[in-house]
Parts: sequence; C-alpha cells; structure tokens
Amino acid sequence: ALPEIEKQGFGDLLDKVYQTGEPEFGYEILAKIDKNKDGNLVEGFYNFVYQPIFDLNKNVEGISVFGFEVTEQVKSREQIDKLYNEVQNSNAQLQNFASIASHDLQAPLRTITSYTQLLFKYSKDKFEPNELEFIDFIQNASKRMQELITNLLEYSKIGIEKNFYISHDLNEIMKIVLSDLQPLINENNVTVSCTDLPCLKTDKIQIIRLFQNIITNSIKYRSSNNPVITISAKKENDYYLFSILDNGIGINEKYYDKIFEIFQRLETDKNVEGTGIGLANCKKIVEQHGGKIWVESVEGEGSTFYFQLPV
Ligand code: ADP
Repeated sequence: ALPEIEKQGFGDLLDKVYQTGEPEFGYEILAKIDKNKDGNLVEGFYNFVYQPIFDLNKNVEGISVFGFEVTEQVKSREQIDKLYNEVQNSNAQLQNFASIASHDLQAPLRTITSYTQLLFKYSKDKFEPNELEFIDFIQNASKRMQELITNLLEYSKIGIEKNFYISHDLNEIMKIVLSDLQPLINENNVTVSCTDLPCLKTDKIQIIRLFQNIITNSIKYRSSNNPVITISAKKENDYYLFSILDNGIGINEKYYDKIFEIFQRLETDKNVEGTGIGLANCKKIVEQHGGKIWVESVEGEGSTFYFQLPV
C-alpha cells in the first residue's frame, strides 16, 4: 500500500513511471507516515524509489514504491550547513574587525607620536636626562606599535582583497624579489641560488610577499657564517613543491607549528627586529592558493621552508 504522502508532485512521479516504464529514485520527500502502525502519522524525510512492475506484455501494470527514512541524515546535513554558515560569518566579521581596528588604531597612535616629537623638539632643555629617556621609550614603543598595526592590517587584508590568479613565470617573480632584497643581500654577503621555476596561476603580489618573507627570514636568522640560500621547485603529482634552504640558526622541532601563528616569535631572536607576522602571512597566502607550508630544520645548521602550490 502506498504511504500517505502529504506532498504535491507525488502523483506526477507515478504518472512518469507509468509512461516511461523507467524507475525513478533519489527523491527526498517530507512525508507523514504511520510508521509505528498505531494510526498516528509521523512526519519525517524519506528517500523513495519507484520501480515499475510489468505485465506479460511489458506494459506497466503497477509500481512498487518503497522508501527509507533519512530524517536523521537530513537533520545533520542541515546542522552542518548551519554551522558552516555561522563559521563563514564569524570569519568574515573577524577579518573585518581586524582590518577596521588596525586602521582606526593608526590615528591616535599618530597623535601620540607627533606630540611626543613636538615635546622633545620644543622642551628638550627643560627635561632631566632620565625624563628624556622616558620620551625615548615612548617613541620606541610607538614605532613598534606602528609596525605591529601595519603588519596586522596587511595580514587582515589577505583574504578580503580580491585575488588575481593569472599565469606568472615565477622566474620573473623571483627576479623582482631578489632585486628588492639586493641591499640586504649585499650587506650580509648572501649567496642565493635558484633552480628553474615553473609558470603557475598565482596572485603576483602575494607570491612576491611569500618569497620575500621567507628569504628575508633566512638572512635575518643567519648564523655567524655567510648566509647561503638555495631555492628550488619540483613537480610532484598535481602540485609543485618549493623549498628554500638556508644555513642559519635553525629552529627547534617543537616550534615548527608555532612560528606560523600570528605574533609568535622565538626567544632566540631578541636582537632581530620583527613582529612575528611574516610566516602567518605566508601560511595564509599559501593556503589561499590551495597549498600548504611547513618547515624542517636542524638547530645550529639551518632550516628548509617547504610549500606546495597546485599545478
Ligand atoms: P618575525 O621574523 O617578524 O619574528 P616571522 O613570522 O617571519 O616573524 O617568523 C616567526 C619566527 O620564526 C621568527 O621570530 C624566528 O624565531 C623564526 N624563524 C623564521 N624563519 C627562520 C629561519 N629561516 N631560521 C630560523 N628561525 C626562523
């Protein structure tokens, strides 16, 4: 017997099976069925299959209909969709927040910086040496805060800004990166070598930023030896694996994940300037391109940063 279905279109389906003689299936229907056989109709989602039954002349003489209940599956799917939307929303809100907050923080900071400068310029002679030192502290802290805000702004923009994925010759991109870094390279007697790089669909500005961050780190976290940096790329299945090898101070294995988190710096580098955002940016950029990034290192010998970009 047919279940009592409270749904329009059910009859149309039966007609269709009668006419075509083909089975129909995969229909998820909200139906009320006396599933406990106690006279009460219980609402639930059912997946129905309509199978034609043929007489000896191969005419459809009836249709067997059976359904299996998928209420739980439908409910959990709805729950997943709901959670997914919530995560998307809160992510967007968070990015907006970081972007607006860092932007708005800049104005009061500029006021602090410029008035401290004026104070120093016009009232220098009235201050005791230790008071001048206090002003110096304020100026240094403001400068540092300015750096943090600028970097935070940059970080929050990745993901909000529209990306332009166009095919780029990464050899050309590397030329730009190395030429931008030329002063730092010369100053530190760095030897850089690079194998032939592929052409890939990438966002040029982001990829420049990615290479620049990693190579700059290889120079910043150098050992007493002159830095030697080797960049290479090789195709592995459906992605290219890039590696940037240095002979710097290296990273302890327990910090392999931590260094990619925002504002995370290691104790070893108190003397090296930085805000701990560079590698967080790199992670975001690589992930936006559909790849992943990680590091392997031997402390005291050097590090290799790896990242994948899809072909
Ligand atoms: P920053 O350089 O501003 O501190 P990053 O996010 O670029 O921030 O790097 C995070 C931390 O990872 C650095 O503070 C440093 O301790 C470590 N690190 C990054 N690159 C290297 C490297 N090539 N060799 C050794 N340590 C590194």
